Amino acid sequence: MKPLLAKKGKTTSAGTSLKDEAIVVARPKPRPRVRKRTPEEIEEIFGRFHAVEPEPKGELEHSNPFTLLVAVVLSAQATDAGVNKATRRLFELADTPEKMVALGEDKVRDLIKTIGLFRNKAKNVILLSEKLIAEHGGVVPEDRDVLQSLPGVGRKTANVVMNMAFGHATMAVDTHVFRVSHRLWLSKGKTPDAVEADLMKIVPQTYLLHAHHWLILHGRYTCKAVRPLCETCVIADLCFSKDKRI
Ligand code: SF4
Repeated sequence: MKPLLAKKGKTTSAGTSLKDEAIVVARPKPRPRVRKRTPEEIEEIFGRFHAVEPEPKGELEHSNPFTLLVAVVLSAQATDAGVNKATRRLFELADTPEKMVALGEDKVRDLIKTIGLFRNKAKNVILLSEKLIAEHGGVVPEDRDVLQSLPGVGRKTANVVMNMAFGHATMAVDTHVFRVSHRLWLSKGKTPDAVEADLMKIVPQTYLLHAHHWLILHGRYTCKAVRPLCETCVIADLCFSKDKRI
C-alpha cells in the first residue's frame, strides 16, 4: 500500500510540531470503478452458475399455468415459503379459473390471510379468473402483453409465467435479480425494466432461459442483501462489488 505523507507545519493533538516530521497514514484502498463487463466475464459467470445448478427451478408450488399465475400474483412482497403454505390448501380446492370463481372471494381471502396484502390479492385472483373465463376460454394466454392486461399482473409476473409455464427466455427482475445485477456490474439500470433490458442484451443466448432463476437463487441464498456469504460464492473472484466481504 502506498504511504500518504501528512503535510508538514501542522500541530499534533499532543501539541508537538510536525514541522520537520513526516507521518505515515494509510491510504484507503481505491475502489475499482464500475466498468462494462467483457463478454468473456459474462460467459464465465453464467457458466459457473450452470455448472453448479444446470436446471434451476422456481420455488413456488404449482400444478399448471393457472396455479403458477395465481402463486406469482400472491408472491408480491411475500416469501415463496409463505405463499406455498397458503396455496397448498387453496389449490386443492381450486386449480382452475372456474373452480376459483366458484370458491368465491371471501373463501379465497380466508385461505390466503397469512400473506401480505391478502385482501387486494384475493380480489385480483377472482377478477383475473373471471377475465380468463370470459376472454380466454379459461386458459392462461401465452402472450406477455395479454397476461399484463389481467388484474394484479405486472411485467415481472408476466415474465415469470412466460418463462416457467411456456419456456420463453424472459427475464423477470425481482429485488434479488436487481441487487445481484448491480453487484456483478451486469447493469447500472435504475429500474427493474432497465435492468431487464440490459440483461436481455448481455446474457449469452445459451443461458437466457435460466438466467433469472440463477440470479434469484444466488441473491436469495448467497449474495444476500445484508451480509452476503462471499466466502462460499462461486464467482467471488469475478466480483468487484463494494459489498464484497472477502
Ligand atoms: S463475492 Fe459476495 S458480493 Fe460478490 S457476488 Fe459473491 S456473494 Fe455477492
